[in-house]
Amino acid sequence: MSRLLILPLLLALALSPGCQEANRARAGKTADAGERREYAIVIHGGAGVILRDNLEPEKEKEITAALNAALDIGEGILRAGGSSRDAVEQTIMSLEDSPLFNAGRGAVFTHEGKNELDASFMDGATRSAGAVGGLSTVKNPIRAARAVMEKSEHVLLTGKGAEAFAAEQGLEIVPPDYFFTQERWDALQRALEAEKKKSGALPVSPENKYGTVGCVALDKAGNIVAGTSTGGMTNKRYNRFGDVPLIGAGTYANNTTCGVSCTGHGEYFIRYAVAYDVHALMEYKGLTLQEATDFIIHEKLLQAGGKGGLVALDSRGNIAMPFNTPGMYRGFARPGERQVKIFED
Ligand code: ASP
Repeated sequence: MSRLLILPLLLALALSPGCQEANRARAGKTADAGERREYAIVIHGGAGVILRDNLEPEKEKEITAALNAALDIGEGILRAGGSSRDAVEQTIMSLEDSPLFNAGRGAVFTHEGKNELDASFMDGATRSAGAVGGLSTVKNPIRAARAVMEKSEHVLLTGKGAEAFAAEQGLEIVPPDYFFTQERWDALQRALEAEKKKSGALPVSPENKYGTVGCVALDKAGNIVAGTSTGGMTNKRYNRFGDVPLIGAGTYANNTTCGVSCTGHGEYFIRYAVAYDVHALMEYKGLTLQEATDFIIHEKLLQAGGKGGLVALDSRGNIAMPFNTPGMYRGFARPGERQVKIFED
């Protein structure tokens, strides 16, 4: 029987009231199954139409090196007994600082030719969370998201207020043109051209390549933290936010189940509460991380027309990195294991 039929059947069974106890038992079993890894870290650098034929070998090498460098930073922190909060923040900062990804330096341009950056951060131990939207002058939006979580009583700050808060916290402020890259500027020009011909669909991403970055880490103390950072989608306007600054859509973490960071067409990830849905399927239905993430990305989201992927890990350090686009920049590290990939195989 195809996966298309099995998973809905599995869900229908799990939904029946008579199965509640079995679900709970199953959930418990899932939580206990397998050897608990000392630590684990998983990252993405965006999903989309990334085709082997279109990706020059030199660029592929650069991207692979940047993903490995980011993993080195996060894994180093975790191996030394550091916190998943630090691992996620530092790993994402290194991806934000690279012009190769659509986050921090290298962010895509809005319709008006600006960069408006979003990020979020969530701690699975306490369920505390922080997020920022529409930043144009904060060098590392992920640091601002963490600061909102740790230093404010709020969850989501946006625009000028968020920038003032970040400055008060002593975070590095840069001129808006710090985020300029020629490649993203050219992508905006192509989008504007395409829009002229089509009359106004928005937001468009003509490259069909999303490029957001994200990281989830499990530290030696068993704490899961997830973070995501993005420039959003090329040619966005009207102060559009995608899923990234919305906790439960682009980012979620709960020590009892999993941590999740998403990338893709944000409007779908918002409407399907994708990151939270992974947690919910594990908590309420007892699905494994792999079952939950496969169902959401390959069935639910795909059937709705939502393109993208996610990276996730559970409380034992199991890892899932599903995507329904041709490629997704991704990788993970656990004791004695390292993988970085772009395409399916
Ligand atoms: N999800 C992001 C957004 O919609 C885009 C991405 O993943 O690259 O803003």
